[in-house]
Amino acid sequence: MMDDLRELYQEVIFDHNRNPRNFHVMENANRTVEGFNPLCGDRLTLYLNVQADIIEDASFQGSGCAISTASVSLMTEMVKGMTEQEAQNMFKIFQKITTGKDDDVKLEELGKLQVLAGVKDYPARVKCATLAWHTLDAAIKNEEKSVSTE
Ligand code: ZN
Repeated sequence: MMDDLRELYQEVIFDHNRNPRNFHVMENANRTVEGFNPLCGDRLTLYLNVQADIIEDASFQGSGCAISTASVSLMTEMVKGMTEQEAQNMFKIFQKITTGKDDDVKLEELGKLQVLAGVKDYPARVKCATLAWHTLDAAIKNEEKSVSTE
């Protein structure tokens, strides 16, 4: 990756970490799942309001490192208005990108999540970046109330 691009990505991550989007408890959530990454200590509670199969609203609370906070902030912005299927497809693409198994994935498909693609070079941070998405996946499946990356 070119250095100036990397800098731009870092700026986006810093921005979302300093000013997380959708950072609040959701009173009318109909899905609430807690996510925990013991390796780093990242904790979050994800709130969704799902109507039919559309994610009408998404928000979160919690505390974690810059990568995990930026990732969940970006995710809540991105999945609003998506169907559950679309959100799960995005999770699969994101997983491929962050684990380097991305031969068949175009970066454009990731939209804003591209800023997190660099974590594949830092294996210890991959779980920080994917915690939000594992939590979302559990919320969509609506089976578990908490998930852990370990
Ligand atoms: Zn972390």
